[in-house]
Amino acid sequence: MQIDFLSQLRHVGVMLAICVDGLNETTPGGTVYLRRDGRIGVSYPQTPALVEAFSFAHDVLARVTFAAGARRATTLHPQPLELRGPQDLPRLRERAYGPLAHSIFTAHQMGGCRMSASATEGVVGPDHRVRGQDNLFVIDGSVLPTALGVNPSHTIYALAHRARPMVIDAARGA
Ligand SMILES: Cc1cc2nc3c(=O)[nH]c(=O)nc-3n(C[C@H](O)[C@H](O)[C@H](O)COP(=O)(O)OP(=O)(O)OC[C@H]3O[C@@H](n4cnc5c(N)ncnc54)[C@H](O)[C@@H]3O)c2cc1C
Repeated sequence: MQIDFLSQLRHVGVMLAICVDGLNETTPGGTVYLRRDGRIGVSYPQTPALVEAFSFAHDVLARVTFAAGARRATTLHPQPLELRGPQDLPRLRERAYGPLAHSIFTAHQMGGCRMSASATEGVVGPDHRVRGQDNLFVIDGSVLPTALGVNPSHTIYALAHRARPMVIDAARGA
């Protein structure tokens, strides 16, 4: 089965759905923390709103796949569901969605070192300087207050470009 699938790899197209969390109380977002043993802990609660989004995304992606001319579509459940055409779409409702039900991965982690103009909030100020530290800057996607909901690379490049003179000035003692 796997060999058969791999032999057809040049005909395989992959689509993914981005389900944004961290926007409000129904999807509070994940937390990265330091465990007592020094290892990194990661917690991403799968709220009902997210589980609904996973289910909805499976349906929409399957529809798009068949509209694009695919002859079959498979899900990322441990035992993948294989659909042979739009007539099979109702079968998606037979499956579970959410934690451990299917593959979920995270790609746009942001907000870990939030930037804030308020002196009492956030990890860094608008100049990327870590609060309370003279010469420590954070210049990456973590300073964005939440996940953007769209591809973030260009915004991160722009942040780095904007931050460059601030770091140079700090290095020169300006
Ligand atoms: C599968 C996937 C697909 C994506 N597709 C897109 C896309 O199509 N378009 C888009 O705009 N964005 C995409 N993204 C998101 C984008 O890649 C990231 O948001 C972006 O790269 C984050 O930039 P960053 O500088 O904040 O962090 P990173 O690019 O993660 O850079 C962090 C760097 O720090 C290094 N590092 C980590 N720890 C240490 C340490 N202790 N010491 C020294 N170095 C360390 C790492 O090796 C890495 O080089 C995708 C992400 C993933 C995972």
